This record gives sequence, C-alpha cells and structure tokens, in this order.
Amino acid sequence: MSSRIAVFPGSFDPITKGHFDIISRALPIFDKIIIAVGHNAAKSYMFDLEKRLALIQHVFSDEPRISVESYHGLTVDFCEQKGAQFILRGLRNPADFEFEKAIAQTNRQLNTSIETVFLLTAARYAYISSSIVRDVYRHGGDYRDLVPSGVDLDK
Ligand code: ADP
Repeated sequence: MSSRIAVFPGSFDPITKGHFDIISRALPIFDKIIIAVGHNAAKSYMFDLEKRLALIQHVFSDEPRISVESYHGLTVDFCEQKGAQFILRGLRNPADFEFEKAIAQTNRQLNTSIETVFLLTAARYAYISSSIVRDVYRHGGDYRDLVPSGVDLDK
C-alpha cells in the first residue's frame, strides 16, 4: 500500500500550540506530514519565511515523519508534486468552518483525488491564533504559553 502523505498548509506566522496540537494528533493517522509554509508576495508577514521555517523545524526536529517545506502557488499542485493524497486543516470555531469549507470545496473542484481532512482543535487551544501571538509579542508580553516549547521569537 502506498504511504499516506498529508500536507498541512498555512502561514505559521508564527507556529502556535494550536498548530502543534493538530499536527501531533494527525501523526497516528498519516505516515508522513509535510508542513507547507506558504509564501505569498501579496501577504505581509511579521516573521520572514526563513524564520517561520526554522521555528517549525526546531519544534519537530526529533520527528522523522514530519518535514517542513515552503511553497507558493496552489496547495493542490504542491500536493501533486509531493505525492500527497490529503490536505490537513484545523478547525477552531464556526468562522473557521465557513472559511475552510470554501477552500476545501474549491480544492476538491481543482483536484478530486485530494481529500481535505479536518481535525477539531482541542478546546484549551481553540482561542489561540498566530495573530494573537503576534500582538502579545509586539507589545512585549509573555507569549510562551501560546507557542510550543522551545519557540523563541527573538532568536
Ligand atoms: P492560514 O493563513 O492558511 O490560515 P494559519 O497558519 O493561520 O494559516 O493556519 C493553518 C491551519 O492551522 C489552519 O487550518 C487553521 O485553521 C489551523 N489553526 C490555526 N490556529 C489553530 C488553533 N489554535 N487550533 C487549531 N488549528 C489551528
């Protein structure tokens, strides 16, 4: 049987405990997870691509079944290039659901052989977003409870 490869696409600006929860819980479901860090020239990020990649690589350095890559263009095209049959996304709330539904249905129209798989975030992380982490960090607050251990945004 071919291995089950999932792509977890996102901005990860920066990686949060919410992302970490989804990735950790998806590991038993898939053989391999590719964390795909988007870079979109039209979007402005607080952390540059190298920094966003490095933080994730550091967090998962002991997990050989997880790889971290950057991509641009359509997520389904990246999946095709990588031989991935699944797109993994996290759902926090109804707003996420509405947004994710449109993306997943569009992706399905673009490529019917790739399934989007959703995991509900654990309740204790559902309030966390990268934008909240950025706000706390920007104003000098202690962001460490919001990000996986070992994540140092100043380095
Ligand atoms: P994007 O810009 O593509 O939304 P994000 O990095 O914000 O990128 O999110 C990537 C994925 O992680 C999305 O599926 C999003 O719903 C999910 N996600 C973000 N924060 C959390 C969280 N706190 N708990 C669970 N999933 C989350």
